[in-house]
Amino acid sequence: MVAVEEPIRRAYLVKLVGEEGLRIVESMPSDEVTDEHMAEVTGISLNTVRRTLYLLYEHRLAIYRRKRDPDSGWLTYLWMLCPENFDKALEAEVRRLIRKLDARLIYEKDNVFYACTCGCARFVFEEASEANFLCPYCQEPLEYMENRKIVETIERQMRDLSAAFS
Ligand SMILES: [Zn+2]
Repeated sequence: MVAVEEPIRRAYLVKLVGEEGLRIVESMPSDEVTDEHMAEVTGISLNTVRRTLYLLYEHRLAIYRRKRDPDSGWLTYLWMLCPENFDKALEAEVRRLIRKLDARLIYEKDNVFYACTCGCARFVFEEASEANFLCPYCQEPLEYMENRKIVETIERQMRDLSAAFS
């Protein structure tokens, strides 16, 4: 069994393969196993098991080899997880998230925002002034909107992500 205990790892795997996928990962033995067997032990459909395993394979988190049954001639796929690659995959994902947050942070810091007093939407200054500071959806006035809280939240998320992987 592969225990996925750290919340950040779990979150990453759930994002990648979903809740059922995570259950499959956690039920995988440390040696080779067939997809049919995994469907049987987890009670998850064979299609979902296969999709999960291929997704893991695409992210280098699993490998497989084909074996031909000498009697039936059928091909069997034997799957194995690569737990040693989990950290690397997670690190790449964290780097990607930090880059995304960084772009968002720059956007928040470079712009001045106005929001509809009814809560329809938020606009950057240029959009707001083009609309004469009236909401294009409901015609209510647009008001300056402080974004310090948003900036702080993004900065905290970036700190948390960096800390989780240092
Ligand atoms: Zn509005």
